[in-house]
Amino acid sequence: MVSPRRSFGLAAHPLHHQGTDGSLAQWVRHSEQALRSLGLGIAAVGCTADALQHLGALQDLPGLARLPYGREGGIMRMVSRIAGGVDIGSELAGAIYLLDPLHPSSLYPEVQALKRQCVTHDKPLLLTLAGAIEWMAIELALHTGVPLRAQPPAGVLPPQQQSLALIAHDALKPAMVAFAAKHFDLLSSAPERVATGTTGGRLNEMAWSRGWPRERPWVRPLRSGPLGGDVQIAELVLDGRCQKLLFFEDVHVARPHENDILTLERAVCTMGRTTACFNTPAMADAWARAWS
Ligand code: PGA
Repeated sequence: MVSPRRSFGLAAHPLHHQGTDGSLAQWVRHSEQALRSLGLGIAAVGCTADALQHLGALQDLPGLARLPYGREGGIMRMVSRIAGGVDIGSELAGAIYLLDPLHPSSLYPEVQALKRQCVTHDKPLLLTLAGAIEWMAIELALHTGVPLRAQPPAGVLPPQQQSLALIAHDALKPAMVAFAAKHFDLLSSAPERVATGTTGGRLNEMAWSRGWPRERPWVRPLRSGPLGGDVQIAELVLDGRCQKLLFFEDVHVARPHENDILTLERAVCTMGRTTACFNTPAMADAWARAWS
């Protein structure tokens, strides 16, 4: 039996449609070969499908499909299809949404619903150009077994050049510690590591328990998330001092500092050409395995 084609939802705000230097065109340039090698389909929301057509991009991609325009519920359908959809064969394996934080629709509930459903169903969500390019390279590396370090893809910084921020909500702190222990050498090669307060404390304990020098914290703990750690990390992102967020988010609990989390996400999107957020343990593990 032929297994159904995996497809990613694709949307981009108008800022990213513009010209051959726009993020949409750049993503296609960097990722087209991976898309074709993986046999991945794309379900593009109306305006983004129009923009691809205008650019003459991916028009012959097997599995290129069109979702309705945003005003006709295109993003809402994408969310449903991340959750499984209602028709056989319509399920999406992940989503790329190149977000412009100054576009009003970046604050619509369906964008948060898209994140919730992606995290809930352990599917990748890429909100920035840097993340979308790197993710396709990761999928290809895991598919072919050729690690990214053997042939670092254009447009992607290796872990040795990405300063990291590590954040885990309470239920996911054990997963963060386990992830960091499993990929300790790779994470230790980053130029700098920061974390929200409690996460950072746990990670330092783990590092010291494996012989990391006591006088040197393995990760710099900032304030605890609810006390401002997320917005401190947002400033580092905006300064270009943090290129990768590994954020193990618990989307099943009420979060008093939801607006801080949104601020951080929007900072990442502001710096989207160089910065990415991977927000599940599975995404972080795939990233680390692809580079190891
Ligand atoms: P914490 O913060 O590491 O201080 O628990 C994480 C968060 O809640 O954002």
